[in-house]
Amino acid sequence: MATTFALSVVTPEHEVLRCDAELVIVRGGGGEIGVMARHIPLVTSIEPSILQIKKADGDDRLAITGGFLEVRGDAVTVLARTAERAEDIDKNRALEAKERAEARLAERHGEIDEARAKVALARALVRLQLVEEQAHSAV
Ligand code: ATP
Repeated sequence: MATTFALSVVTPEHEVLRCDAELVIVRGGGGEIGVMARHIPLVTSIEPSILQIKKADGDDRLAITGGFLEVRGDAVTVLARTAERAEDIDKNRALEAKERAEARLAERHGEIDEARAKVALARALVRLQLVEEQAHSAV
């Protein structure tokens, strides 16, 4: 019985990852979801979160800033708004984005601005979370 499935992580810009995976975990619209081989067909939205990928030759973690996950047959596709490995994240840029979003939230100009600032903040926070995790695992 197959214990792995074909995983592909793509963004509008490029294919970030294609591999055989044993498990993926990410935060969907309804909460954290885990997908293993032979999962039932599924389409779900993805919240800004860390996509955890377990595979035979080592685990991988990507910062995802939203998108969709589809399970079809033995293939799992993550259509990500953006997807970055820790080493590809510019920490200062994420810190600046976080500060900008926090400043906008403090101004409170209107509901639309507030919603935009909240998602921008969530994007910056997930990037910073992955960078921090890697910094701690490297010591
Ligand atoms: P910023 O305000 O800094 O542009 P953002 O959250 O609005 O941040 P996105 O729209 O999510 O940026 O991403 C636009 C492009 O820039 C994507 O290709 C994304 O991978 C890349 N990107 C965004 N922030 C970073 C970062 N801190 N480090 C590396 N790449 C980033």
